Amino acid sequence: MGLKVFNTLTRTKEDFVPIFDNIVRMYSCGPTVYNYAHIGNMRAYIFMDILRRILSYNGYKVKSVMNITDVGHLLSDADSGEDKMEKSAREQQKTPREIADTITKQFFDDLAALNIARPTVTPKATDNIPEMIEIVKALLAKGYAYETDDGIYFNVEKFADYGKLSGINLEEQKSGARVEVNDQKQHPADFALWKKAQPNHIQQWASPWGQGFPGWHIECTAMSNKYLGSPFDIHTGGIDHIPIHHENEIAQAECWLDKKCVNYWMHGEFMLYDGGKMSKSLGNCYLLSQLIEMGYSPLNFRYFCLNTHYRQKLNFTFENLAAAKTAYNRLLETLRQHAESTDKTDANTLKAFDDEFSDAVNDDLNVPMALGILWKLIKLPKSSDIYSLVLKWDKVFGLSLDKLPEKKEEKINIPDEIVELAQERLTARKNKDWAKSDLLRDTLNKKGYEIVDTKGGYEIKKL
Ligand code: AMP
Ligand code: ZN
Repeated sequence: MGLKVFNTLTRTKEDFVPIFDNIVRMYSCGPTVYNYAHIGNMRAYIFMDILRRILSYNGYKVKSVMNITDVGHLLSDADSGEDKMEKSAREQQKTPREIADTITKQFFDDLAALNIARPTVTPKATDNIPEMIEIVKALLAKGYAYETDDGIYFNVEKFADYGKLSGINLEEQKSGARVEVNDQKQHPADFALWKKAQPNHIQQWASPWGQGFPGWHIECTAMSNKYLGSPFDIHTGGIDHIPIHHENEIAQAECWLDKKCVNYWMHGEFMLYDGGKMSKSLGNCYLLSQLIEMGYSPLNFRYFCLNTHYRQKLNFTFENLAAAKTAYNRLLETLRQHAESTDKTDANTLKAFDDEFSDAVNDDLNVPMALGILWKLIKLPKSSDIYSLVLKWDKVFGLSLDKLPEKKEEKINIPDEIVELAQERLTARKNKDWAKSDLLRDTLNKKGYEIVDTKGGYEIKKL
């Protein structure tokens, strides 16, 4: 079965067909680096990573881009409130650049710890301001945008397809709108492409509309088009991005370029905490570093995430995480036994399992099902062939299944009688009485013990 993915745009599972035969171009909305990314955010990037791995597993080359938002993401999605970067800078008495650098470094360290392959390109918004200004200029020139006292806004009513991703209805939104904060906006859903900066705003750039900074949505359009071209194959993000951020990306990109710019929109569901929303603003989220301090490895967390399909909500509790840790350790231990075995498994059996695995991951990234197949496989009699197949599958799981724990030495209680016989045999060997030594070895074997001669003497093992 070829790869099928759920496309938010058509609300159906579709066959995946890339624009170019052998290369897939994908873009993922990256972090806003005003504060440490929490484990809910990390779930979004594990989803991005799994998608990329499954594309590679299918033989595609993948060019992936993930932006770093270091300017322009305001506190409110309605284009009001402070810029998140400026707020952190003010509170911590640092520059936005210092904060962005610290957070971005930690973010990449977390990705590495979670075996999330770093995307091919990870551009910063602040390095792409001229590209954004060009798009805003073009949208103004084409009549899709207008200027107000505080910025340049996109006029959503000029784009007939506005709402096609989320199903949002502009008419209903207009009549149901509360008193607008910005009374110069022509429609409540109109969004800022560019904001004019107050003199005390730290991050600001010269533009045809005076000093200012970009809106959050334009950043993704500028960077995806710059690094991937348009159209490209896949755009990912969390489901919270569907109604505003991605709807706006579609509107501005399609009006700018007069064509469809993304073929497949894929969205990851949220991670909840004790059944409720986990988010930085609610202050109920954990960082990867906190899980590590509590004795969980990053891969325990990755394993925990892989057990739930990316389009299902995932409830985080420490009970569930502890269960994942136990299962992951048991998986490694069982795999070690397979790795050490010299037995073989019938090729047809392996092929049937391998096909089942491919079908699962190609069915809209059904990794939980693939994990079920893995557990079924490793219950078969121990064989190194099984371990080799699992290593192939680990290219998708990314669980470092090639790094197996050392064998735990079993502590056995050796009865005194056995120790005495072994000592007697050592004396016989020292006296070069080989006949007696062999006899004593036989006696020990019959009693269920094996003697291994070592440089310093011997070791006793249970047979
Ligand atoms: P942000 O840094 O807030 O822009 O979020 C970065 C990414 O994490 C986005 O793709 C969000 O959709 C995603 N995200 C935020 N909160 C959660 C959550 N609780 N569970 C899963 N993904 C989330
Ligand atoms: Zn984005």
